[in-house]
Amino acid sequence: IINLAIETSCDETSCAVLKNGREVLSNIISSQIEIHRKFGGVVPEVASRKHIENINIIIEKAIKEANISFKDLDIVSVTQGPGLVGALLVGISSAKSIAYGLGIPLIGVNHIKGHICANYIEHKDLKPPFTCLVVSGGHTYLVQAHSYTDYELIGRTRDDAAGEAFDKVARSLGLSYPGGPVIDKLSKEGNKEAIDFPRPFLGDNSYDFSFSGLKTAVLNYLNHMEQKKGEIVVEDVAASFQQAVIEVLVEKSIRLAKEKNSKTIVLAGGVAANSGLRNLFKSRGKEEGINIRYPSPILCTDNAAMIGSCGYFNYIDGQESDLGMTVEPNLELNYK
Ligand code: ATP
Ligand code: MG
Ligand code: FE
Repeated sequence: IINLAIETSCDETSCAVLKNGREVLSNIISSQIEIHRKFGGVVPEVASRKHIENINIIIEKAIKEANISFKDLDIVSVTQGPGLVGALLVGISSAKSIAYGLGIPLIGVNHIKGHICANYIEHKDLKPPFTCLVVSGGHTYLVQAHSYTDYELIGRTRDDAAGEAFDKVARSLGLSYPGGPVIDKLSKEGNKEAIDFPRPFLGDNSYDFSFSGLKTAVLNYLNHMEQKKGEIVVEDVAASFQQAVIEVLVEKSIRLAKEKNSKTIVLAGGVAANSGLRNLFKSRGKEEGINIRYPSPILCTDNAAMIGSCGYFNYIDGQESDLGMTVEPNLELNYK
């Protein structure tokens, strides 16, 4: 199955060609980060316009790099949601016209399932069931994967997503957008025990998360230090904040994996690129006898290859969309 995949849910215009669900023939990612950086975050209207300017160029590039032509395509996969309405619409409209023009199936894809499926590309032997932690810019999910298409939502954040917390804390430290990679880098030079930030819900029995209180704790610390004219060591704040976030993520994931008898924990989403998170997972996984899998950094953040992988498994499962398919900005994980 030769599969063209399109992703435009946020600020990356991306298009990929896959053979079946795991082999990437091309994966073109055009990021708008530089454009949005001066606003300190993604401006939805600007994102939509940029997607419109870019989409055809990126599709052509993906086809060319894969060394195929349009008539070789068997299916088209596209992100249906969650994401920004206007941004999603651009990808969906393009996918529909290609599917209609070529007379081939259109497959709507849940963006978060796509993040999980990035792991099928990276790890050719990975098979459900497994426990999965999704940590992206807008979502923090603990998931039990039952099959290639059935992902059960077990826990979620009650307020800010993990990536959102990284981005907001970075902003309060005067660091550039997106904050996750910057905090990751600074943390390596800081002392993670310097400041004792709260570990929200760590001892709690639930599988839910909460990061907004932690973000406030960092803000309070910064204000307090400013008032008493104390020295703020940015590296220490970054490392201590990052440690608080990752301890909660790692321990809850391991607890769920043990409860479900999972031999493997899979990480997904942009924050899965975090080196501190990867390292703590690896060392705790070793202690507990649990395999830890995550995608390479380029497959952690938004890309169309992961959408293609998910689209392939949806197609095999008989989940074809029709040309009346609509944008689902708030699409839930259990929903489809
Ligand atoms: P969603 O997938 O929930 O719709 P999104 O697509 O915007 O949101 P992703 O592309 O998965 O999110 O990831 C972007 C997020 O990942 C940003 O919040 C960014 O700060 C964070 N991130 C990227 N790299 C790192 C890193 N090394 N450490 C921590 N966070 C990171
Ligand atoms: Mg992005
Ligand atoms: Fe994403």
